[in-house]
Amino acid sequence: MTSKSESELSVKQVGSVAIIGAGLAGLSCAKELMRRGYRVHVFEKCEFVSGRMARIQQQLTEGKEPLWFDHGAQYFTARSPEFSQQVYQWEDQQVVQEWHGPFVALTDGICGPAIGDDVRYVGIPGMDALCVNLAQQCFEAGSFEAGDFEAENRNATLTLSANVLPLQRIEKSWQVRHENPQTGTITQEEALFDAVVLAVPSPLIGSILPADSPLIKQTQPFKMGPCLAVLLAFDESLSLPYGGAFVQDSPLRWISNNSSMPQREELPERWILHPSSEWSAEHWEDCDEKILEQVCAAFEKATASTLPESRFQVLYRWEDALPLEPASQGYFSDVKQRVVIAGDWCTDARVEGAYLSGLKAARHLADVVLKDQ
Ligand SMILES: Cc1cc2nc3c(=O)[nH]c(=O)nc-3n(C[C@H](O)[C@H](O)[C@H](O)COP(=O)(O)OP(=O)(O)OC[C@H]3O[C@@H](n4cnc5c(N)ncnc54)[C@H](O)[C@@H]3O)c2cc1C
Repeated sequence: MTSKSESELSVKQVGSVAIIGAGLAGLSCAKELMRRGYRVHVFEKCEFVSGRMARIQQQLTEGKEPLWFDHGAQYFTARSPEFSQQVYQWEDQQVVQEWHGPFVALTDGICGPAIGDDVRYVGIPGMDALCVNLAQQCFEAGSFEAGDFEAENRNATLTLSANVLPLQRIEKSWQVRHENPQTGTITQEEALFDAVVLAVPSPLIGSILPADSPLIKQTQPFKMGPCLAVLLAFDESLSLPYGGAFVQDSPLRWISNNSSMPQREELPERWILHPSSEWSAEHWEDCDEKILEQVCAAFEKATASTLPESRFQVLYRWEDALPLEPASQGYFSDVKQRVVIAGDWCTDARVEGAYLSGLKAARHLADVVLKDQ
């Protein structure tokens, strides 16, 4: 463990904020705090930014380029003026593009109209593009897609592969220690922070804050459910007349033809299948083979088709996938201890909710928590 003496630890920066989690909430918070002149240090336990908007690379054929699957968030909508404005900017920069589906409601092969007429957007070339773009704006370096590295500019630092361990108070400041999940190396940050933002799923709050934090009790009721994700690839198109379907009367909640999203390779045709949260929880402990078999059978029934042999099938487990009943206030805060909590589960279980929660958390931090700094 890299340990520092008390005197070395006193290198405190004025107006410095540690942000834990580089999903959309953590990064929108970082960008807004930087805009207001604060120094931020974002810590992310994965080797890449984007959290539940990540995409995953799979080697389908020996010797050929691996292919990407958008296995988490599938698309997003923009309903608030603030997020819409950001989305229009992203559209101009070709970070996002409209996905035309088509979208249907599906019951045993019978298609009905999908609910809602919102424009559905996806990231380009993958759903992680939104977070990668924000990270590039904040840290001005790197692809942020993989690697164990630090990216830094004058006012911001990003440390990947940094699983933040329980935080410690040192007088009025916060000390951050983190563990590299690959190597097990524990690092203690030299600088102390004036405030912390936790932008992580609600079930993780208790493992990061000190046991006496009132925020643990306040956030405990906001549970999250799991989501299994089955990734399939076929050499030929399945020729189904939709790109995304909200499945009814089935273990499946959603299926999408990943290849139908803009700027994705058409073949092999890649499909993402998401069972419902309830079905995922019930079958979480089952072995991969059993889950794959049942989900593929549900896919055949929902689409009323016989699947050709898939080139590839893989199961991914999202543990804290979706808030069961999100809070409504947008963020949680302990002004005295200078801790703010953000994330989709604080406002709305969607990409837009995560973005807005990060933004609101940053404003509250600047306008209230660190007002006198
Ligand atoms: C399967 C699935 C499908 C979805 N489909 C849609 C959809 O179609 N449309 C839509 O709008 N939304 C969808 N969502 C929801 C959407 O993905 C989320 O609302 C959004 O991505 C949440 O962002 P966030 O920043 O709040 O959290 P996250 O993306 O979860 O970010 C939290 C980050 O914190 C990191 N972290 C956790 N603990 C630590 C620690 N101790 N130290 C350091 N880092 C830590 C995590 O690694 C992660 O990167 C879907 C989600 C899932 C899982």
